[in-house]
Amino acid sequence: MATRVHYSLQNGLWLLSPSSSFNPRFNFIRNGLRFRPNLFTSSSNSAALCSCAPNPSLTTIKQQEKPFVLTTPLYYVNAPPHMGSAYTSIAADAIARFQRLLGKKVIFITGTDEHGEKIAAAATARGSSPSEHCDTISQAYKILWRELDVAYDKFIRTTDPKHETIVKEFYSTVLANGDIYRADYEGLYCVNCEEYKDEKELLDNNRCPVHLKPCASRKEDNYFFALSKYQKQLEELVLLNPDFVQPSYRLNEVQSWIRAGLKDFSISRASVDWGIPVPNDKKQTIYVWFDALLGYISALLEDKEQPNLQMAVSSGWPASLHLIGKDILRFHAIYWPAMLMAAGLSLPKTVFGHGFLTKDGMKMGKSLGNTIEPNELVQRFGVDAVRYFFLREVEFGSDGDYSEDRFISIVNAHLANTIGNLLSRTLGLLKKNCQSTLPVDSAIAAEGNAFKENVENLVEKARICYVNLLISSACEAVIEIGNAGNIYMDKHAPWSHFKQGGAASEAASKDLVIILEAMRIIAIALSPVAPSLCWRIYSQLGHSKDQFNAVNWSDTKWGGLKAGQVMAQPTPVFARIELKTQGRMKAKQQQWLTRLPKAKEGSLGLKLQLKPSCAAAHYLPIIEFDIFTVLCH
Ligand SMILES: [Zn+2]
Repeated sequence: MATRVHYSLQNGLWLLSPSSSFNPRFNFIRNGLRFRPNLFTSSSNSAALCSCAPNPSLTTIKQQEKPFVLTTPLYYVNAPPHMGSAYTSIAADAIARFQRLLGKKVIFITGTDEHGEKIAAAATARGSSPSEHCDTISQAYKILWRELDVAYDKFIRTTDPKHETIVKEFYSTVLANGDIYRADYEGLYCVNCEEYKDEKELLDNNRCPVHLKPCASRKEDNYFFALSKYQKQLEELVLLNPDFVQPSYRLNEVQSWIRAGLKDFSISRASVDWGIPVPNDKKQTIYVWFDALLGYISALLEDKEQPNLQMAVSSGWPASLHLIGKDILRFHAIYWPAMLMAAGLSLPKTVFGHGFLTKDGMKMGKSLGNTIEPNELVQRFGVDAVRYFFLREVEFGSDGDYSEDRFISIVNAHLANTIGNLLSRTLGLLKKNCQSTLPVDSAIAAEGNAFKENVENLVEKARICYVNLLISSACEAVIEIGNAGNIYMDKHAPWSHFKQGGAASEAASKDLVIILEAMRIIAIALSPVAPSLCWRIYSQLGHSKDQFNAVNWSDTKWGGLKAGQVMAQPTPVFARIELKTQGRMKAKQQQWLTRLPKAKEGSLGLKLQLKPSCAAAHYLPIIEFDIFTVLCH
């Protein structure tokens, strides 16, 4: 769905003969269903269906604590996963991990959107059947999520039979409620976008603004969803629930779309075979909205359960958070809530639209040859670096840029230097002077010490940031603990006090315990973002994997490390990224570099100054990396 609806605009078209047929039995629902806050912020599963839903006996099903349900879009399998989808999934995973640390039951849903004309065409181009094609690509997503430490709970494929059952039931419910009607229409269709285009948005010669290819005139009769009937409810929804769309600047966008007037939209295709048949018309298949969006609900079903809508809804609906790219905001913040209202279901609590990624300041694209391959990035730099960079560097919600210089600069400075070096030098000193054993409880070591208070404040700041989806700021607060630790070490210089022996040596050993306690807290507080790295830190502190897996946010409280705890053999937890150079050349370049004026860390400006006219131009391909290395020291 993510790519499938990219750049989509309102799919309302020229209705030739709207033959809206209302079922009088359901008129009271249409007229009577006004958005009610309790529907929206339903605190128990049992309230998931409104009173007009067909089966009130549902209230008895699954009365447990409401889980935190969060979703990524279901990714469209027309092509293998790219960095944009990886970014959404990494962010969702960090949020899921944080919620689990709070002790919440989390259901993290992701999956693949597998129907449509483009999929059938992509399969034919590969010489395979659509289902083989979908198997291959959805598997590629699963593999990438494993490599990226994305620990989802549910992976839903829209070709899953249980999903098909839910789609048909949902469609039939909305149809019975009188919000689906059949109408002829004709318009200009872009095959690549898989949708009709509004003439106003086309370029000259009716070219699609996304694909730059001429749209073909098509005419077919389709089923429409009566979105326009929900104008008032949607206006109220965003007015009464300002948190429904986040960040807040995206809410303004949604409000202006609604204000501009909502048009009914087409929800079926007559010309597409690869899809779920429309229940009341087998000649048509259901189009993306009434298919992929329902994956958020069908995913909730257990595999062994008899699939039905009520069972799925009672397993955790409504979602707490839909995490999406900003390109599909309209469909999640307008179409989807209206569809849910039409089916009498509760609305998700929040739709969060994040920004896009650029590379070196430019929009990425296959034609430009400047895409970022997430697989390649993980192979080269490791999963922690990739996750940390995108979550720390991109302010969540806004657009963000990737450049290799910036990437290496950030992860080396924060993960290798601030955290990794601090840990290894502290453990080295403890090994040398205390046989790697903590001489005192961390709570006692820090009595009356302002450093402890500083750490407590920072970790609380990180918590508040995570809660508010300010992931970058959460990272910043945690790294600040590392910075404070480095300052503390340099100021107290325990290595020199050990040499003095007696009380000085005792104070020095307390200093080491204090730093290691701070590292323990970092290992928990940063674990939503860089779980593998944090496990390595935790293991260095003499803890087992089971202990790490059992931690929760309350363990960030000062005082976890106790006297007698034996630390592991010091091993670097994060290898500094050094791009390979050839030794002899490197020496020459460094000699040459000492004559250069000082430049800012990671500065691209310097690199550009070195281009051909430079005396050392023949070293250039390697110099680019070496300059960086030198500047970072
Ligand atoms: Zn197009």
